[in-house]
Amino acid sequence: MINIKTEKEIKLMEESADILKLVLKEIEKNIKPGITTAYLDYIAEDVMKKNGAKPSFKGVPCPYRGGKPFSYAICTSVNDDIIHGIPSSRVLLDGDIVSVDLGVYKNGFHSDAGRTYAVGNVSDIAKKLIKTAEEAFFEGINYARPGNRVGDISNAIETYVKSKGFSLLEEYQGHGIGRQMHEDPGVPNIGKKDTGPRLQSGMALAIEPMICEGKADVYVKEDMWTVATVDKKLTAYYENTIIITENETKILTF
Ligand code: MG
Repeated sequence: MINIKTEKEIKLMEESADILKLVLKEIEKNIKPGITTAYLDYIAEDVMKKNGAKPSFKGVPCPYRGGKPFSYAICTSVNDDIIHGIPSSRVLLDGDIVSVDLGVYKNGFHSDAGRTYAVGNVSDIAKKLIKTAEEAFFEGINYARPGNRVGDISNAIETYVKSKGFSLLEEYQGHGIGRQMHEDPGVPNIGKKDTGPRLQSGMALAIEPMICEGKADVYVKEDMWTVATVDKKLTAYYENTIIITENETKILTF
C-alpha cells in the first residue's frame, strides 16, 4: 500500500530531513585521509542526538539468518563495498572513496540519503563514478511527477548510467518512505518506461542509484551486512528523499 502524505506529514518529514542535512554537512567537513569510518558514525549520531532525532538504521534486524541487528547510525562502504558497510576502525586512505548512507528518525518520520565522498586525491575513474551516481539521481527525478510511473524514473536512471559505461545493482533499490523506513513502492534503478505504480502528489520516495565501475555482481561479506562487488572494482551511490507534489518535486535531503 502506498501512503500518500498530507501537508502536515510533509512538514514533519521536512524537519527530519533538515537534521539529516546537518549530519551530511558535518560528515562532509570531516572526510579526510586518516580518519576512521567509526569516527564518521560517531559524528553522525552526535548531530542527530543534539537535534532530538534518532538514527533510523540502529537496531534494524539483519536480513540474513544468524546476522546481528545493525548497531550504527550510518553505513560506510569503502571502494568495492557498495552498500550496508559497517563503521569500524578502518582508516580512510588518500585515494579511497567512501559511501555514506544514513537515515534520520524525528517526529515519527524517517528521512534517508546517501553520498559517495572522495578521500583526498582520487582517480579520474572514481571521480567519474561519483559524478555519474549523483547525476543519475537527478536524471531520475526529472520523471518524478504526478501521472508518470515508477518505471519512468528507473528507466531514466538506467539509461543515464549505462550511457556512461557503468552498471547498476539490480538486487537493491529505492523505496517509499515515511512512518516506516521502507514503504511501498519499490523504486528500482533499472526498468522500462510506462511500467510500475502510477506516481501521485503526496508520495515520498527515497531514490538511490547504486552503480559499479565493473560488473554489478555482488556478494554479502562475512559480517552479514556489507555488500561488495565480486570483481573488486569501485562503486558509488547517491540518494535523497523526495516528495512529489502537484507543482514541484521537493528534494528534502539536498
Ligand atoms: Mg534508502
